[in-house]
Amino acid sequence: MPTYTIRRYPDPCLRKKALPVEEVTSRERKILARMAETMYSAEGVGLAGPQVGINKRLIVVDTGDGLLKLVNPELVRTDGGDSTMEEGCLSIPEVVLNIKRADRIIVEGLTETGEHTQVSAEGLFAHALQHEMDHLEGILILDRGKEREKRKFKSALEKFEESEFSEKK
Ligand code: ZN
Repeated sequence: MPTYTIRRYPDPCLRKKALPVEEVTSRERKILARMAETMYSAEGVGLAGPQVGINKRLIVVDTGDGLLKLVNPELVRTDGGDSTMEEGCLSIPEVVLNIKRADRIIVEGLTETGEHTQVSAEGLFAHALQHEMDHLEGILILDRGKEREKRKFKSALEKFEESEFSEKK
């Protein structure tokens, strides 16, 4: 199965709010399978539709305990405190930022066959899910990281911003 091209910051598709999937069809199943393939080949732990230019609420996550594909995921509960973890993003290579997020969460959504599902997650898995759900809102780790840390990546970020892509905008 061919992989998608991962869109990189500052591609505007990363800033759009993704649209809910009205009906889960074979088309969505194909997209999810190809997204998973893309995530694994890029050695990532998660990927969201907007990262491959698909403006739909679709995510895939695998933090080592198996592949999870979710349609229209929604955070329904956070439990207990926050934790801070280093996060990277396939759309922002080279940049790693400490991000504080809820450590235990419950997410609801649809499976790839359109059935309702509920997922409990903690630690890295919880972070990865929240990171991918952020993508569906057009939110990047750059929006959540501390200014002081982001300064370390100033030249990498400037390089992306000056890339041929932004000139075409
Ligand atoms: Zn990301």
